Amino acid sequence: MSLIINSVTKSYDKQQALTDVSFTLNKGEIVGFLGPNGAGKSTLMKIITCYLQQDSGKVQVCNLDIQEQDLQVKAKIGYLPEHNPLYTDMYVKEYLSFVGGIYKVENLNNRIAEIIIQIGLMPEQSKKIGELSKGYRQRVGLAAALLHNPEVLILDEPTTGLDPNQLVEIRNLIKEVGKDKTVLLSTHIMQEVDKMCNRVIIISKGKIVDDQLISNFQNNKIDLEEHFRKLTA
Ligand code: ADP
Repeated sequence: MSLIINSVTKSYDKQQALTDVSFTLNKGEIVGFLGPNGAGKSTLMKIITCYLQQDSGKVQVCNLDIQEQDLQVKAKIGYLPEHNPLYTDMYVKEYLSFVGGIYKVENLNNRIAEIIIQIGLMPEQSKKIGELSKGYRQRVGLAAALLHNPEVLILDEPTTGLDPNQLVEIRNLIKEVGKDKTVLLSTHIMQEVDKMCNRVIIISKGKIVDDQLISNFQNNKIDLEEHFRKLTA
């Protein structure tokens, strides 16, 4: 099991953000974590990636406990946060080199060259991040998340703000890199899950309200959009 979320609860002062959230992800799955704004998606992702602590419950990444073995957990996880905090004054390679240094990536220059090709950053590799389009900035974020070759990828709303062409490109890229990883990807757009994922977990008001294979919807001719609206109303 790549990711085990067991009865996780979290509140910010009086705001209950997550209530008794449990699910598991198997190796090789690309799972859509779907919910309206404010449902608790980012909160859970920040907990999984050790940026926030849960109030109760347990999370394991590749059989490592996120509270007891956080350094080992960070080595297993690639994280693209919702507001991808890139240093706009840095050059693309300079930034990747900086991130690779934090993760102590071996043969860093070779790895950067490899990831630049894999993520399609070649045409823009010599620019400053501030000079890139939103689509290419997302690519830099993805490259940074993948640099240390993590087993689990956590992507928080990776396609928000992209134009239709960038959207298709980033979706294809995620599908491609996700082939040999476990991916949890948050979104509030139902069609996104349909296009990229094999399974959907729906969260509403901090609680999991559905967890199904996408093929179930297709086989039973269930309209995803309508299903999502009913569950999250
Ligand atoms: P989502 O990612 O699904 O939009 P979030 O996890 O960001 O949802 O938010 C879940 C709930 O927690 C919302 O009600 C939000 O207002 C609240 N929340 C998130 N971050 C904070 C914070 N730092 N302080 C107080 N409340 C927060």
